[in-house]
Amino acid sequence: MTSTRQGERPHVLIIGAGIGGLCLAQGLVNKGITAAVYERGPGATFRGQGTRLSLKQPGTDALRACLPPHLMELCVATSIRPATRMIFMDHRLNPMFAKPIPPSTPESGFGVNRLTIREILLAGLDRIVHFGKAFTSFEQSDGTVRAHFSDGTAADGDLLVGADGTDSAVRRQLLPDAGMDSLHWSIWGRTPIVPGLDIPEELIDSFNRVTGPDDVALSVATCRTREPVSAAAARISPGTALTPIPDYFSWMVSLPDEFRDAGAATLHRLASDRVREWHPGVRRILETADVGATFPVNIRSARAVEPWPASNVTLLGDAIHTMSPGRGEGANTALRDAHLLRDILAVATDPAEAVARYETEMLRYGFAAVAQSRTAPFAPVKTPKGAMLHFRRSEYHIAPW
Ligand SMILES: Cc1cc2nc3c(=O)[nH]c(=O)nc-3n(C[C@H](O)[C@H](O)[C@H](O)COP(=O)(O)OP(=O)(O)OC[C@H]3O[C@@H](n4cnc5c(N)ncnc54)[C@H](O)[C@@H]3O)c2cc1C
Repeated sequence: MTSTRQGERPHVLIIGAGIGGLCLAQGLVNKGITAAVYERGPGATFRGQGTRLSLKQPGTDALRACLPPHLMELCVATSIRPATRMIFMDHRLNPMFAKPIPPSTPESGFGVNRLTIREILLAGLDRIVHFGKAFTSFEQSDGTVRAHFSDGTAADGDLLVGADGTDSAVRRQLLPDAGMDSLHWSIWGRTPIVPGLDIPEELIDSFNRVTGPDDVALSVATCRTREPVSAAAARISPGTALTPIPDYFSWMVSLPDEFRDAGAATLHRLASDRVREWHPGVRRILETADVGATFPVNIRSARAVEPWPASNVTLLGDAIHTMSPGRGEGANTALRDAHLLRDILAVATDPAEAVARYETEMLRYGFAAVAQSRTAPFAPVKTPKGAMLHFRRSEYHIAPW
């Protein structure tokens, strides 16, 4: 990078208002560094990609460092009540393995609803987040960078951060040879928790895996926030509007490849068919699901890339190291990137050196996480009794939905 503004704090252009890009924006604003976020979507509304995220210590540390304290408090208050035990069962709900999960503290991690965390991360950023701006390309000259958008507009800055997710357009231009593997597909859905819904106790508040014949597998996560989100916002951060999140089950069923382009109704029917002969309690969850909220997920994993010469364009989160959610690391790693880059930029005197330091460290832990996620992404493992399970016992602390 030609460092024409050496010694000055850079103006940062962030492409993508996902969890990583927004955490970086919050962290930069917090340190008095100017930033602008460009998001192609029309607003904060939920995008189909699972309905819940499990955050572990690197993720919660990043939020704590980058968010103002009241927004961090709001994250904890609106977090999802943790699972109390891990249970693996067959399709008749006969337990094959069960173990209590030790209580966790907000420091060690918590589950969050994706929409809620995005709304919290957007709080206070109205003036710097620009929706409806689809990035198309960048141009570098003389130590500055210009981002172009599909509506014909452009923005100038000193540093451009591609936080634009798995199909990153920034990565396509910066690292055209970076590759990605598609590992498998699954169907995700949600079922409202309503009075009288008779669901087996084993499937409630547990980290579970139900495995049927032909290796079809289903998991159900109970998503109930510690406190109603609107009440928590009114108490902790009046002025932050959070969309109410009624209690729900989030479920996932493995999906054969040929159905990946199907619509919600077909996917829901397919998921229901797959558990047709299973325990009635499992069938009930699918029968009472919100059909329109059923969607397919392609689990992808980035191939390791060699370090490249640092410049005033860099990448963060899934844009560089997308990974299987099998270990629940993707969002945590994106948040860790945001935290690291923010800390480095906060004290940087030479932006080129700052990006080089960030990329060296980020590539090390980012691709270590990708490699680990590949080794356990829902991979069947044998129990001592010979049953096939889809998680290792030691992984009870992660929730892959
Ligand atoms: C089913 C599933 C479950 C998961 N569960 C977990 C979990 O429990 N824990 C965990 O740590 N991780 C989990 N993950 C991974 C996690 O979702 C991702 O790693 C995380 O969302 C990455 O954040 P990000 O900010 O890098 O990208 P994203 O969240 O994908 O955000 C990218 C943003 O960029 C925008 N964008 C894209 N292209 C452009 C463009 N050209 N111009 C402008 N904007 C653009 C997008 O609209 C989006 O808002 C899961 C993933 C899946 C698929």
